[in-house]
Amino acid sequence: MFMMPDGENVRCDLCPKNCKIKTGNFGSCGVRGNKGGKGIIPYYGLISALAVDPVEKKPLYHFKPGSKILSLGFAGCNLRCPFCQNWQISQINQRSQINQRSQKTDISDLGRRMQSGEIISAALRQDSPSIAYTYSEPLVHIEYILDCMALARRHGIANVLVTNGCIKPEAAAAVLKLTDAANVDLKCFSADTYKNCLGGDLEAVLDFIRLCRKMNVHIEITTLVVPDLNDSREELDAAADFIASVDKDIPWFLSAYHPDYRWNAPPTDPVFLLRTAKEAGKKLTYVYTGNFSSDNNTHCASCGAVLVKRRGYNADTSGLINNTCAACGKITDIVI
Ligand code: SF4
Ligand code: SF4
Repeated sequence: MFMMPDGENVRCDLCPKNCKIKTGNFGSCGVRGNKGGKGIIPYYGLISALAVDPVEKKPLYHFKPGSKILSLGFAGCNLRCPFCQNWQISQINQRSQINQRSQKTDISDLGRRMQSGEIISAALRQDSPSIAYTYSEPLVHIEYILDCMALARRHGIANVLVTNGCIKPEAAAAVLKLTDAANVDLKCFSADTYKNCLGGDLEAVLDFIRLCRKMNVHIEITTLVVPDLNDSREELDAAADFIASVDKDIPWFLSAYHPDYRWNAPPTDPVFLLRTAKEAGKKLTYVYTGNFSSDNNTHCASCGAVLVKRRGYNADTSGLINNTCAACGKITDIVI
């Protein structure tokens, strides 16, 4: 899917990079390749990580709070964030070359193959109501994701996408049709930083977020606040304004960065993060902080009562009766 022959090259239309892949090579994500003029996806079904997590870890705070979620990870990513905390597995593009003689790629250390049916069986065995496609970037494996999602739907299991959202509209619509909830990274609010520092496309991400809302996919947004990259007051204000323009009730996570990979700024100052969250709270109903300990309870937007009390990844939902506030009866948008 999304790969067309173009002479001896292959053109990939999945994400805004629009890679023109030469024979024997991979596109920028290191996942989608060209073998003899044909598009190939040799990493189909190759799972780099499989774990049962609390849904709060994705992070998702307003989708089935307190539940567990089977989480699958994949190798490769179409971005190259210099602060990537998962770069050993996301940046396989550094090494992806097809061995033309053996027609194979060296993938033995990147995980193990699992058919979509095995994933669904694992979720059922673990009594997990949802599956998350997460860790580096699931969307560059869209063929496998769609297969798993369709099967999960047939078994009444919810699909959760944790993504950088940097994908073209046709592919986005195909995957969101089968998605119940998404956490989308809004990495910064500068087109220039997206393009020149992260290798991404701000407009594509904004369109993806708008499309989630339009297609009624439950959405939450995460921004890792990275000193010297995206932490100016103007940029964080602009991001909050954008989210509010889509829906002021979309939860926004402001997460603390710590040095990793190629970015060596000092860790995000917690006081700065809390101040930013307070400012954003004037525009958005639900703003949370991540990667350090703070009060991340969910309060009723009407009476202020605690709806969900959190300690680490534990969530106590006794402030809710189904999805209404137990104190005042206001209907919330929390998916139970
Ligand atoms: S998905 Fe990969 S191969 Fe396709 S355009 Fe994006 S980076 Fe290039
Ligand atoms: S989008 Fe995520 S996985 Fe990909 S390089 Fe950036 S931080 Fe890493």
